[in-house]
Amino acid sequence: MKENLVENYKCLLMEVDLLHKKYEEIILNELKKSHEYQQEETENFSLENFEFNEKTINNLLTEILYSLKKYLPKKNIFFSNALDISKIENYIKSKSFNELFKIISNKKEIKKFARTLNLKQSSFAFIIFNLIKPYFKAIAKIEKDRIKIEKKDNFCPFCKTKPNIAYIQKDTGKRFLICPLCGTSWEFARIKCPFCGNEDQRYLGFFIINDDYKFRVDYCKKCKGYIKTLNMKYAIDENIEFTPELLVELDIAAEKEGFIMK
Ligand SMILES: [Zn+2]
Ligand SMILES: [Zn+2]
Repeated sequence: MKENLVENYKCLLMEVDLLHKKYEEIILNELKKSHEYQQEETENFSLENFEFNEKTINNLLTEILYSLKKYLPKKNIFFSNALDISKIENYIKSKSFNELFKIISNKKEIKKFARTLNLKQSSFAFIIFNLIKPYFKAIAKIEKDRIKIEKKDNFCPFCKTKPNIAYIQKDTGKRFLICPLCGTSWEFARIKCPFCGNEDQRYLGFFIINDDYKFRVDYCKKCKGYIKTLNMKYAIDENIEFTPELLVELDIAAEKEGFIMK
């Protein structure tokens, strides 16, 4: 990525992150109000149990697209064509929330719809992912008690999304994976690739950037997968988090080393 493109991308992620913070509260309140599900043990979680306020989702979409246009206005690695906002808006507004979730969880669907909208797959996935993320975070909060966590899960026990970040607990040294969509975290073996299941230490390793042991990239040479990891052992502040900026830097470093985002 070229230098100013990286800077713009970081700005875009920070702005979208602020948008999420703003919308998460609104969405949580809306969903709680509309939520009519019964606390029955047998009933499985379903998106059908929620009513999605169209106005809120449309407002969020408009703001995400506005930010995209502001920071990535021209043809670049994200867009093969100039961004046609009204076309994308009309298209996404014609889909239900359920449909959007099905699209984002299926690579073939992403490819198909990205082509329809003249967008690169990554930019189409970016829009949909960031549109549904605050909803999943809110739903995961509401459904928290029903999430059944298995230690062996290599994908989110709640929404089945692959993890992309992890943290290592300070005192126990245990590793927890974090879902990028709904924010659920769950314990996972420390010496094991979450993507291919490889446990052979010869193929597993990590590297740090900026001489900072808090933030590292754990990788697997078998499947080329990697996961950005916060090692609390080196953190003074307990509330430390990844910033969007840092995540971009770690992704770029991982890609340079030949690893692939899974
Ligand atoms: Zn999840
Ligand atoms: Zn692997």
